Amino acid sequence: MNDCIFCKIINNEIPSEKVFESEEIIAFKDINPQAPVHILVIPKRHIDGADTLEKEDAELAGRLILAVARIAEQFHLGGGYRIVTNIGKDGGQTVRHLHFHLLGGEILKDSF
Ligand code: AMP
Ligand code: ZN
Repeated sequence: MNDCIFCKIINNEIPSEKVFESEEIIAFKDINPQAPVHILVIPKRHIDGADTLEKEDAELAGRLILAVARIAEQFHLGGGYRIVTNIGKDGGQTVRHLHFHLLGGEILKDSF
């Protein structure tokens, strides 16, 4: 996806503050943080969103959640945190590349 901002981050065409990287996943700080810790965890392979995950992506989806949990430990979020993934226009997804928001570092208010 040439015009995908997260693919550009993966390709280092746009700078980001990376906090984790593996063969298939990267995580970086959200540019507009909604909590003291706000990190985006994304697959390096472009997937539009959780709605377009295929059966073959099940292990990757699991590893993305595991990566979130490991990063949460790295950021000392033992008191708890929130994982959010928005889907499509009605779900508030502004970047159409699958991403999990990791939010924490304070007592989070109800989001809905
Ligand atoms: P969503 O609205 O769920 O699609 O989330 C997209 C997120 O990407 C928002 O929280 C934005 O602040 C974040 N974002 C957009 N551009 C960048 C960027 N260049 N670097 C880091 N985060 C970004
Ligand atoms: Zn992309």
